[in-house]
This record gives sequence, structure tokens and C-alpha cells, in this order.
Amino acid sequence: MSEETVVVIVEDDPNIADLVEMYLRRDGFRPYQANTGERALEVIEQRRPKLVLLDIGLPGEMDGIDVCRTVRAESDVPIIFLTARDDEVDRVLGLELGADDYVTKPFSPREVVARVKAILRRADGPSASDRPPIIEVGEHIVVDAGRREVTVRGDAVALATREFDLMQHLAERRGLALSRRQLLDGVWGADWVGDDRTVDVHVRQLRKKLGDDLALETVWGVGYRLD
Ligand code: CA
Repeated sequence: MSEETVVVIVEDDPNIADLVEMYLRRDGFRPYQANTGERALEVIEQRRPKLVLLDIGLPGEMDGIDVCRTVRAESDVPIIFLTARDDEVDRVLGLELGADDYVTKPFSPREVVARVKAILRRADGPSASDRPPIIEVGEHIVVDAGRREVTVRGDAVALATREFDLMQHLAERRGLALSRRQLLDGVWGADWVGDDRTVDVHVRQLRKKLGDDLALETVWGVGYRLD
């Protein structure tokens, strides 16, 4: 990880922010802090981070969700939410904010750094020379892994990072029943500590966004299969 990798930590609890900053710094990142939503937008604008860690509950006019919406309007910088409660997780996932990941407090700073690295590895992506193929799923859906684009009947559908990753993973394994665990390992990585619900939520989003043309079946007692 290069020394130039700027990460912005948006967190109003100085103890948490300082701890995460210390761990990031130790791993060679260049962290900057912001303790309100308004400040976060300034710092992100100034520092052009490679990734943003974003607390949801923030003092002032803007909470983390507002910040995410505002940032997403003009940037696809990876965002990891720092959530305090389980219901915040549901809210974050349900809002389709395009967050790339989340960690629930209390978290270990080591875990946060591991997530940051995993997301950045993913964001770097494969090089142009090994551009993966275009996969046709059924008659109407095309997954273009190189452009990270899914089209339904020719129209591009906006997917969050993980949603696309899941769709690509399923498309590459069409016809196979995959367990939630296999999907977690394959898409989120073996070191992911989240639960099966994460897969279900993302499957729900794919079904909603891709509609009836998506033949993504629930295989009872197993998981999911894309036909
Ligand atoms: Ca907070």
C-alpha cells in the first residue's frame, strides 16, 4: 500500500477516530479526520481520498447518510460505513446508498484496516490486459466485467460495488447452486466476518434492480442459483 493512499475518517468520537487513524498510519496510509458531515465534505474535496470511513451518527446538520448521498452524487470513492447498531446496518443496506462495506461498532481497528485494504484491492481491479469477458445471462442481461456494467435489454443498471461483484460471481457460475457461505467467500472474501444476511440483502437488491429478466433462484437449504 503506497504512502500516498489517503483515507478520510469521518467520526465525531475522537477516541475512535484517533485509534483508527493510528492503525491506518501504522500501515502506511495517510489518514485525515473530519468530525462533522460538513467538515467531511470539505476534507474529501481537499484531500481526494482513495477511501472514506463514514460514521452514521454525526453532530450538526448532516449525518453520515447525507454525506454519503452528497459524495455519491459526484464520486464513486469507496465508502465504508461505521455503524453503531444493527438497525443502522439495515438502513444503510436498504437505502441503496452505494456503500461498499460496513463495520459495526465496537470494532477492532485491525478489522477496519483489513476491510480498507480489501476494498482498495478490489477497487484497483484487474489490469486492462486481462480484461474479463462479457457474459450473457439469459436473453436480456449482459454482464460486462471489464466495464463493470450490467445491462438489461440494453439499458445500463446502476449497481453498488458489491452488487456488481455478486452479479459477476453468479454470472461466471451460471447453473450452479451456491451456498451463502460460498458467495460470502467468493465475493466478500474469506476474511469477511459478516453473516448470511449480507448475501440475502444484496440478492434482494439485484432482483429489484434487474427485474423479471433475472432468473436468480433461491435454492432452499442451499443458497442461490443463477439460471
Ligand atoms: Ca457518532
